[in-house]
Amino acid sequence: MTSLAARPAITTTTHFINGAWSEPGGPTFPDYNPFDDQVVAEIAAGGPAEAEAAVAAAHAAFPGWAATAPAERQRLFLKAADITERRRAEIVHILAVESGCSAPFAHFQVQWSVNLLRQAANWGYLPVGEVLPSDTPGRFAMAVRKPLGVVAGFTPWNGAFNLAWRTIALPMAFGNTVVIKPSEEAPVSAGLLHAEIAAEAGFPAGSLNVVVHAPGDAAAISEVFMASPAVRCINFTGSASTARILAERAGRALKPIVLELGGYNPMIVLADADLAHAVDATVFGAFFHQGQICLCTRKVLVERPLHDAFLDALAARTAALSCGDPTKASTVIGPLINDRAVRQVAARVEEAIARGARVVTGAASHGRVYEPTILADVPRDAVVALGSEETFGPVLVVEAVEDAEEALERAQATPYGLSAAIMTGDQDRGLDLAQRFDTGIVHVNAPTLVGEPSLPNGGVKDSGWGRSGHYAREDFTEIRLTTLNHGAGRYPI
Ligand code: ADP
Repeated sequence: MTSLAARPAITTTTHFINGAWSEPGGPTFPDYNPFDDQVVAEIAAGGPAEAEAAVAAAHAAFPGWAATAPAERQRLFLKAADITERRRAEIVHILAVESGCSAPFAHFQVQWSVNLLRQAANWGYLPVGEVLPSDTPGRFAMAVRKPLGVVAGFTPWNGAFNLAWRTIALPMAFGNTVVIKPSEEAPVSAGLLHAEIAAEAGFPAGSLNVVVHAPGDAAAISEVFMASPAVRCINFTGSASTARILAERAGRALKPIVLELGGYNPMIVLADADLAHAVDATVFGAFFHQGQICLCTRKVLVERPLHDAFLDALAARTAALSCGDPTKASTVIGPLINDRAVRQVAARVEEAIARGARVVTGAASHGRVYEPTILADVPRDAVVALGSEETFGPVLVVEAVEDAEEALERAQATPYGLSAAIMTGDQDRGLDLAQRFDTGIVHVNAPTLVGEPSLPNGGVKDSGWGRSGHYAREDFTEIRLTTLNHGAGRYPI
């Protein structure tokens, strides 16, 4: 158990609007440690009034931020990166006590964020348009890229720290101002820490605003974002079911919405794969952060000649992962985020077992810590094997296949289209199979979970749309056709 004294103090628990922290004293809600149920902070419970104030501040700050010189934006992003790096130990601890994140993933999140901020620092220097040929003599035509305005972001609890930086930094780097609504499960790691860092770095008032809220109040805040004409884009990371509600509402408002959703990410292991690498990539891909990352591997399809050796080695590596308190340096598998998550994982594992699945390892929980679980001989109609449901936890289905064609067919039997991976000793064959995947991401000889902030992560189909890295310029800018015309025009009437 973590002692209270060992915790770095969480000093900011209120909204950050127009460069200032709102006064404490209003309604609050408890922010729990998912491992031991201790309250780590009392967080302000905001609503539509705070959301409206935040949108107004972002709207007022937009012209100034959009006109800020690239050198100044660069200076601010680099400073934010340095502050994030300086506060690493504290952030790692807060991620553990607020979101159940063990040290390996917490350090990953911090480093990813530092790298992203240093890359985003340069995006202000990317070209802002093109000169276009015109059929009209004397016409000089330009496609000029402009920021959109206010981008309203929903930040998730799972990759709380790095995905919140992604939600903030991508639009801001291209000149937009931002309001975020962190997940109620991790309001500090998914937003309030970022406001502290942005404030210390000196980002101008109103350029980043954070509104926090109690469980159950998300829809009221979301409605302010949807209804406000100042909000020009919604930027959502979360589940496909919530995304459908938000996309319908955004559709009525004719607002673009960027969606980074879940996946049912398959890994194909061909018989010529390097066995040890395939096992390591699977353990990492399936069980990093207790399987609570959208890019985690949910199913492995192994060519029959390698299947038994693969499963034995995978089971041994998986059973050795240390589970427990995420504040302990030795812990790899921490708790799931809440009781609902534990109930869902347990129910799906039990359903698969009831239908005849074999537990290779795991299938037990200790409090909210669910042991990393491998299931074999899973009937195709068990929910964990279906491909249509994302089981957001440490549960992996392993299936034997006769050949790569069968593997590909089964791997593609999902409405999701986020990530996929192929392990093979034949790189040409791997690349050929990779081209046949209907996903936003595919890796040959790497896990489904590859995290580099410069790379264009994102999905197709039920996994959403929009791409990260500097490719986000497509999502967070619009093109204004601008022409300059010389001489008298000739018109048909
Ligand atoms: P998860 O359950 O994994 O947190 P969700 O998709 O349910 O994923 O939630 C993602 C985000 O969407 C959170 O910030 C949450 O507050 C918000 N949210 C959930 N339901 C709604 C809703 N009906 N309207 C607006 N926002 C919502």
